[in-house]
Amino acid sequence: MLTETQAQVDLVEASRRLSGANPSEILRWAVDTYFPRLTMATAFGPEGCVILHMLSEIEPQVRVFNLETGYQFPETLELRDRIAERYGIELIRPETTVPEYEALHGGPLYGTRPDQCCHDRKIIPLRRAVAGYDAWISAIRGDQSPDRAKADIVRWDAKFDLVKINPLLRWTHRDVWAFIVTHNVPYNPLHDQGYPSIGCWPCTRAVVPGESERAGRWAGQAKTECGLHSLDSSQL
Ligand code: SF4
Repeated sequence: MLTETQAQVDLVEASRRLSGANPSEILRWAVDTYFPRLTMATAFGPEGCVILHMLSEIEPQVRVFNLETGYQFPETLELRDRIAERYGIELIRPETTVPEYEALHGGPLYGTRPDQCCHDRKIIPLRRAVAGYDAWISAIRGDQSPDRAKADIVRWDAKFDLVKINPLLRWTHRDVWAFIVTHNVPYNPLHDQGYPSIGCWPCTRAVVPGESERAGRWAGQAKTECGLHSLDSSQL
């Protein structure tokens, strides 16, 4: 396993060198550098589906997993099953089922303590899922939020103790959808029903014209990220 010091040595230079590369080239570099200790988390957003498709052509043996929070939309689970048939997906589950979790806390936490809920049902399982790996691939785009715009293509992720690679950082919403259409990549049907960004059903609503892409995530709360991609996880 890489130590932070070892990894840091080349990451700044690698990120600079890859700044003009396209996502496939970045993924190729990631595979050449880290496979088989390379993994990817996806919630089956359009960006994740694009990366899955690219990876299947570069190195289909890269281990890809989904964090099954227990609160996913039925449409997401149906897409997951279709994608699993095509690309292969590992499911990572929290320690407790939703009924067990809600019984433990006297009800759901997503309305009152969403940070705790995300920590228990996403962050802790992710930490477990990436243990022993040297690098993980995420599907964030820089134009999704001001925090994401500050990410690098490659950077040490101190929150999870491995390298984080963001191949789509420089792509736009339009780039992603052009790729999906051109390559017939499967995607969540909720995207056609006003949901540009899809997380757990209790914390996601459709957006109206003029709202930002992520306005439907934790709407009405100060929270904007589940913690997997917060600036802290990239910069600490
Ligand atoms: Fe819980 Fe909502 Fe976070 Fe899902 S997105 S883990 S339901 S707080």
